[in-house]
Amino acid sequence: MKPWENNIRRVEPYVPGEQPKYKDIIKLNTNENPYPPAPAVFEAAAGLDTSMYRKYPDPACDILREALAENYGVTSDNVFVGVGSDDVLSMIFLTFFNSKKPILFPDITYSFYSVWAEVYGIPYKRPALDENFNIKAEDYYEENGGVVIANPNAPTGIYRNLDFIRDILEHNQDVIVVVDEAYIDFAGESAVKLLEEYENLIVVQTFSKSKSMAGMRIGMAIAGKELIKALNDVKYSVNSYTMNMPSLVMGTAAAKSNEYYKEITAKIVATRERTVEELNKLDFECLPSGANFVFAKHKNIPGVDIYEYLRQNKVFVRRFNAPRIEDYLRITIGTDAEMDRLFELLGEYL
Ligand SMILES: *Cc1c(COP(=O)(O)O)cnc(C)c1O
Repeated sequence: MKPWENNIRRVEPYVPGEQPKYKDIIKLNTNENPYPPAPAVFEAAAGLDTSMYRKYPDPACDILREALAENYGVTSDNVFVGVGSDDVLSMIFLTFFNSKKPILFPDITYSFYSVWAEVYGIPYKRPALDENFNIKAEDYYEENGGVVIANPNAPTGIYRNLDFIRDILEHNQDVIVVVDEAYIDFAGESAVKLLEEYENLIVVQTFSKSKSMAGMRIGMAIAGKELIKALNDVKYSVNSYTMNMPSLVMGTAAAKSNEYYKEITAKIVATRERTVEELNKLDFECLPSGANFVFAKHKNIPGVDIYEYLRQNKVFVRRFNAPRIEDYLRITIGTDAEMDRLFELLGEYL
């Protein structure tokens, strides 16, 4: 062993969902949106002046933050943006979780949280979800170094209303509470409403799911000015130019296309409800979903068998080989035609 090998920071990395290279597949494995981004995004893309790429982009990301601030009814110094919410969350972990006490997040949740905690050396604890896969608020009453809650949670899809979030906040006034709302547009009320009351709250959202722009990598945090300032100080200490120019321009166009996004979100929610009905008919149990996916388990057949069968038939879904959820499939809501193909295949197999 070489001496320098002892100094390598070794981590077990997050494993993203597969992005298969071939075309004729139905891809229901990474919660992408089946519909295109808003027409204004295409117009913005066509209008990009590529000769401007020789210059650095605006490090403050003003146009995007201003458009987002208007949507949330806040000012732009309440908004932080980054390269997907993964980048934003990673900056949040680095900035705010600097205590010797463990941060808390559920045992079953977005699996990136423990990866960031590991890479930044942040102690953490993962209270178990209850038997219905609900987060137990009482588990978050103990002393801690911070709290991270995905709402809706992933990969369960379960949404909890603002009374639940308020309960967590009431019991955690001395630490930063992060609510990761990657799927909120498919669910219900956002915790952005609570920002005026709780200055230790940070709400994180993304353009990857409801805004249909996973490929552009845009995420944001909304919080009080002081917290946003602290986040920016860390960002400028790591990489000032996180957002590229096309993302800023196209993201701004998307942020101004609320009517279009309401329409496609409603379509996805309708398809989700139909999907749950069809899966129930096929003897699946689905957790109540407030997301653009369902988390479903067949009553008799192991999840891995169904997963492999679908894969052989070019339908990709996601499965997590982890305790309590190994028989569940996380199925992204695609177009109606894509879901019909899934039901057809399952009908032939079961
Ligand atoms: C998809 C997802 C993210 C990351 O999204 P980005 O593409 O990085 O914006 C973060 N949190 C949860 C819970 C997600 O499902």
